[in-house]
Amino acid sequence: MRVDFSSKKRQEMIHTMGNKEYDLFIIGGGITGAGIALDAAARGLSVALIDMQDFAAGTSSRSTKLVHGGLRYLKNFEIGLVAEVGKEREIVYENGPHVTSPEWMLLPIYKGGTFGKFATSVGLRAYDFLAGVKKHERRKMLTTKETLQKEPLLNQEGLLGGGYYVEYKTDDARLTIEVLKEAVAFGACAISYARVSRLLYDNGKVIGGEVKDLLHADHTFQVKAKKTINATGPWVDSIREMDQSKKGKVLRLTKGVHLVIDQAHFPLKQAVYFDTSDGRMVFAIPRDGKAYVGTTDTFFNKDTSNPYMTDEDREYIIRAINGMFPNVHITAEEIESSWAGVRPLIYEEGKDPSEISRKDEVWHAESGLMTIAGGKLTGYRKMAETVVDQAIKDLDQDYPRSNTKKLPISGGHVGGSKGFEDFIKEANNDALNEGLTKQQARYLVRLFGSNVTTALDLKKALKNEDRFGLPDELFLALHYAMNYEMVVKPEDFFIRRSGLLYFNLRLVEQWKEGVIECMAHTLRWTPDQKENYAHGLMKHIHQAMTPMKE
Ligand SMILES: Cc1cc2nc3c(=O)[nH]c(=O)nc-3n(C[C@H](O)[C@H](O)[C@H](O)COP(=O)(O)OP(=O)(O)OC[C@H]3O[C@@H](n4cnc5c(N)ncnc54)[C@H](O)[C@@H]3O)c2cc1C
Repeated sequence: MRVDFSSKKRQEMIHTMGNKEYDLFIIGGGITGAGIALDAAARGLSVALIDMQDFAAGTSSRSTKLVHGGLRYLKNFEIGLVAEVGKEREIVYENGPHVTSPEWMLLPIYKGGTFGKFATSVGLRAYDFLAGVKKHERRKMLTTKETLQKEPLLNQEGLLGGGYYVEYKTDDARLTIEVLKEAVAFGACAISYARVSRLLYDNGKVIGGEVKDLLHADHTFQVKAKKTINATGPWVDSIREMDQSKKGKVLRLTKGVHLVIDQAHFPLKQAVYFDTSDGRMVFAIPRDGKAYVGTTDTFFNKDTSNPYMTDEDREYIIRAINGMFPNVHITAEEIESSWAGVRPLIYEEGKDPSEISRKDEVWHAESGLMTIAGGKLTGYRKMAETVVDQAIKDLDQDYPRSNTKKLPISGGHVGGSKGFEDFIKEANNDALNEGLTKQQARYLVRLFGSNVTTALDLKKALKNEDRFGLPDELFLALHYAMNYEMVVKPEDFFIRRSGLLYFNLRLVEQWKEGVIECMAHTLRWTPDQKENYAHGLMKHIHQAMTPMKE
């Protein structure tokens, strides 16, 4: 479905949003807000959504990028959480197989490690059972030899065997934008780079918010709605402060860092979930010719909008890599890129960061403000269903039940996992017929799923446009992102729509000038805007590569 979600229409959308009363006003365009917008819009509610940054620029582009049940939570006996998010994995996959796919995970078992052979076997069996895992994806127990065949780089000392089980890998930022685009297709109105600066009240009840357009600093507008939902992840307490309803439970933020290394230095074949020397667990995951490893988990009280990697974070992860993969000898030199994110966890007194539960909760303030706190990327759909179920109780109309369990997200209209392989073949052929190379076709079909037809139409429409030296697939992906994914700044494209700033910095260096020129021309930037946005991109490149001092 073609959705009008173009950054060229931003002003028009702001005008519409400021002149209408909505059923729901959602503050926050991470996965939580996007999920709520889709659930509500698909049930027929009118929805306005605002984010002060790009969509997914908060935690939802900074995760481990796994749709997973949280095996490690079994250790804390969080059975309900594992069962619920475990089941959601397959739903997320079926509704968008172009952005989420199964990934076999290896859990090596060591003498004296966190999980022994028996505990791993029972734990993974319980995981399969709780998450309702399909027969061919149920866990296998491996001998030492089989474990080393899967990943020869593993430390062999004390290795007893391995557990082998399925998780799902995703692109968190693309998952968020695809969910949001589907919400927009159902009529939701969503605007980025606009901050809620205060809430509006009538007789003590919240009736919306005043919003500052951060791209035009002197412009504010009001959004009116019957129900306002605070889906601001790590920022939920700041919105509760605006509402003077921050009492009882509060958030405690922890930071997690990931490092990216080229396969030339770390030729990891297999995703591995392993113990660190301090008893935590870390993922190492191959992706697009790189391996990424993380995460750290430390309390965080700095600027929530700009978490960064420090020397200590980098050292911690490098130590973990060299402990588990002793022959790779990774040093700081080999770290190509990194990202840091903050987890919005619900405070539990006396607990260490890794012990705090990842469960979500909905909080209702006397003003009517609803806050969704905690949670995981994986559970976004179920969380959204719960929030909308509760929100519509306060609206004076009946709405149907949630239908998102079987609702493809944007790009996911491919007939589920069963239809996906056939879809890929057909779409690849279409792309080849449009003159793209095999490699370009594969890239675009995987990136856009069923929206690739829109991208191919765009290719025809752009036939005579200046390409600014950009290769076909990047030129097309960029124009698609400006026309259909509300890309405003170069960093939106390089970090969150294409993932290149994390997983292919070389390409970013090579094509950044062309992308900036192309965006400046298409979006009619002033010289000041161009300079600011180019500077912003350079800052992000620097930060991904360089540890910062605390
Ligand atoms: C290191 C790390 C690894 C993780 N790994 C996984 C994983 O592998 N799998 C998994 O399922 N989960 C994982 N998580 C958890 C998951 O990423 C988060 O639970 C999820 O992304 C939170 O989404 P959110 O939408 O609630 O918050 P966010 O994505 O942070 O969105 C909140 C948004 O609100 C906006 N906002 C804030 N204040 C305002 C305002 N005043 N006006 C307008 N907008 C505002 C922000 O700009 C932001 O975009 C991980 C988290 C971290 C930190």
